[in-house]
Amino acid sequence: VRYIPDWLTTRATQHPQQVAIVSPDGSLTYQALYDAACSYAASLCKLGVTEGQRVAVLTKKGQRYAVMLHALMQLNAITVPLNWRLTGAELAPQMEDCGCVLLLYDEDATSLAADIMEHCKPDLGARQIEQLEVTADRVSRDDVDLCRTHAIIYTSGTTGRPKGAMITYQNHWWGAMASAMQLGLSINDKWLVPMPLFHVGGMAVLIRSLIYGTTVVIHNGFDERAVNRAIEDEGITLVSVVPAMLQRMLRERTRPYPTTLRTVLLGGSAAPKALLEQALSLSVPVNQSYGMTETNTQATTLQSYDALRKVGSSGKPLPITRVAIAAASGLTTAPHVEGEIVVKGPTVIAGYYNRPDANEMTFRDGWLYTGDIGVLDDEGYLYVLDRRSDLIVSGGENVYPAEIESVLSQHPAVLESAVVGQANEEWGQVPIAFVVLQPDAQASADDLRAHCRNRLAGYKVPKDVHFVSSLPRNASGKLLRRALREQV
Ligand code: AMP
Ligand code: MG
Ligand code: MG
Repeated sequence: VRYIPDWLTTRATQHPQQVAIVSPDGSLTYQALYDAACSYAASLCKLGVTEGQRVAVLTKKGQRYAVMLHALMQLNAITVPLNWRLTGAELAPQMEDCGCVLLLYDEDATSLAADIMEHCKPDLGARQIEQLEVTADRVSRDDVDLCRTHAIIYTSGTTGRPKGAMITYQNHWWGAMASAMQLGLSINDKWLVPMPLFHVGGMAVLIRSLIYGTTVVIHNGFDERAVNRAIEDEGITLVSVVPAMLQRMLRERTRPYPTTLRTVLLGGSAAPKALLEQALSLSVPVNQSYGMTETNTQATTLQSYDALRKVGSSGKPLPITRVAIAAASGLTTAPHVEGEIVVKGPTVIAGYYNRPDANEMTFRDGWLYTGDIGVLDDEGYLYVLDRRSDLIVSGGENVYPAEIESVLSQHPAVLESAVVGQANEEWGQVPIAFVVLQPDAQASADDLRAHCRNRLAGYKVPKDVHFVSSLPRNASGKLLRRALREQV
């Protein structure tokens, strides 16, 4: 089966008055969402946007983002969601990489949009969303082509060059089916997403709720009080967070959560044992998951009834997914063998846009090589041991040392530098820099941090700068990050 009835059209026809979106900017029924999306689709069509073209979306307002996403879907255009925490210099290469024809931004993003435009080739179009023409015209589609690419989401590569993960409609469809099988499904579900919608975690909640015909509750940014209040007062049944967010929620909440809350879906990184114990003591049903952009969210899930028995584990593969360990002797599902985690299944992306080199390395014989090291236990539960050694994950955001090092090295006083992750209660990890200064040069930690702040997203700015006389290297001159990590 390749073509199925369009998801939004179906919902607007069958359950027009069902609430699709609740947000600080108002609520939309499926009928209202359909009308808004088809009207914006007509307006984008007039601007020349056609099927298959890439259009970047830059807004902090979740509801506005959702409407643009749906408008682009009705046109069969490809959404490129932009991470507004990045700088123009970081976002422009993403847009150029996939050849975006248009940048849609809103009033809150005008200066970042201008910064992007400055770094982009002049032929890129840009439109402020509030100024898009709204007329009685409507453009809509009848079918979803499951083989089409729906979105391109960028993950920064270790080499600094961003890779665009092509998420297909099939990835969403199977993700939705598997999620319903793992977590259950009720027409009264309200899925709260206080996470950014430009990552797969947030986008998947929007699309799954659409496929199910249920309600998504959007918060524009994470605030633990607002999340706890929504769970208490608004009958939230599911919420998606990263461990750092759950930590803040539980710090603020001392009473058990209401039983209406069925699932807290945890993703992005491993959760500490103390956090899981505290959550269960407050009747929070935690489902730890393991996944990545390339698997369009979870590949494995640990059910809440296993949370303590299997603490530290990320659970079992989705019922539609295979997970194995790449050992020296080949792929295996035998217990206690450590190696790279590989994943196969219909939620694995179609590949990186226009990157045959990266695709050849990452996708082999139908398996996704995740770059994470893991091990299975006797009962087939996955334990993620480490990520590709260099990656730092801070508050759910990937931080690549090489990128920060290259910015540090642009400072005239810096001879060389190395960035490693330091464990941090609040963020999981934060980047720390080791710097060797040029002979006779002067620079303070604050100088270097200010230099980084002008060029990088805030979460990439090293929290600490240690000045050293040399960096540890092995015989062949390769930097020994492990030795530095042991120091912090
Ligand atoms: P991203 O590229 O932003 O999608 O981040 C995906 C990466 O986050 C994975 O490749 C892992 O390194 C890490 N990650 C996600 N879930 C877990 C988990 N349950 N335990 C440990 N690491 C995780
Ligand atoms: Mg990754
Ligand atoms: Mg992440």
